Amino acid sequence: MHEGPITFQGDRLWLPLGSVPTGARARLSLPEGVTVLRAEADEAPPAGVEALGLREAHPRMAREDWLRAGRAYQWLEWEAGHRFCGHCAAALVPAEGHGRRCPSCGRAVFPGNSIAIIVLIQRGRGPARQWALARSPHFKPGVYSSVAGFTEPGESLEAAVHREVSEELGIRIQHLRYFGSQPWPFPNGLMVGFRAEYLDGDLRPDPSELEDARWFTRETLPDLPSTISIARWMMDAALAETD
Ligand SMILES: [Zn+2]
Repeated sequence: MHEGPITFQGDRLWLPLGSVPTGARARLSLPEGVTVLRAEADEAPPAGVEALGLREAHPRMAREDWLRAGRAYQWLEWEAGHRFCGHCAAALVPAEGHGRRCPSCGRAVFPGNSIAIIVLIQRGRGPARQWALARSPHFKPGVYSSVAGFTEPGESLEAAVHREVSEELGIRIQHLRYFGSQPWPFPNGLMVGFRAEYLDGDLRPDPSELEDARWFTRETLPDLPSTISIARWMMDAALAETD
């Protein structure tokens, strides 16, 4: 894994990693000691260095390096968005454990994640197995994916899954199973993936979020999300099953 500094210019990563800007810049150290730098917006990257969004950079980087760059971006964004106390508006100062503390009212804030759930729903077994996939208007043309949404304060992951499925698709599910999770640096998410079985109801996609939702079989699959995301990993895992 690359151990040198990681530079962002806005939301764009400088590749190759290790390229250091000359202009004034924000900097921080990740807990593991890696230095993260922010180049000024008007600085031209050095010769041979490209400034790429994390999505564009993904296919060109080793998986571990991309994960660390995404992690660096989440920390930078957290720091940039937590300069003042949300209660009394005083400027925050560094606190223990990578957090920040308000010298006026004493409250402390710590880096965290916006937690979202994503769920792949299946119906039936064997060759007749179907999956409920939906299309957001923001997706590339032809792409369908599992439904996802942010958890709300005071809500368990499981409750969030059932609520999102009910709200977005109008169906009910059962036999929820944890699949895995993925840091999602757009800008500070943690995607928690589940698989579930259909229980009852007819697909009624919520028009405020989705433009379509359907049951697909292995033979009728639409275009799927790219391998950057857990949405695709879950689908690939499902397609590898033969029962
Ligand atoms: Zn305060």
